[in-house]
Amino acid sequence: MTPAPGDRTASRETARTTDDASGEAARVVVVHDRAEIEAWARARGAAVREVDEDWESITYEAEAVDPAGVRTRCRYRYPIPRAAALRRLARTYVVGMVHDVGRARCHHVRRVIPVGTTEAELRRNAVLVASALIDLQRHGRCGASVVTLTPYTVVSALEWEG
Ligand SMILES: [Zn+2]
Repeated sequence: MTPAPGDRTASRETARTTDDASGEAARVVVVHDRAEIEAWARARGAAVREVDEDWESITYEAEAVDPAGVRTRCRYRYPIPRAAALRRLARTYVVGMVHDVGRARCHHVRRVIPVGTTEAELRRNAVLVASALIDLQRHGRCGASVVTLTPYTVVSALEWEG
């Protein structure tokens, strides 16, 4: 399989992970501000969690099952203000990682914002954060783990997007 690391690949995979999390269909309610999703979650005793993040937005989601047994998700995409988005982009790294699954190779790409003071430290932390994320999100599906994942690229998002 040809690795196709990039923004679209990364977000597609994130979206799949989200859909597969429950393994079943769910009704999705989209709201347009943070207060609305918090009110929705509070009324149902659900927790609001961050499910997706890229350099220009953060997506929050809460999930509840109503008395009729219908699973419903409430989703809110927070568009990060442009100035802050550009600062985040400057701090974002794209990390491509690979591991073996039987005789095949499985690729994962994540965009992360590492902490650190030197370039070497930032890159090292970007790999650590990305491998932890991939392990958390994909271990049950393809066996990816922090032990088996190897980075094949660690690039500043600014360089990545040209
Ligand atoms: Zn994998």
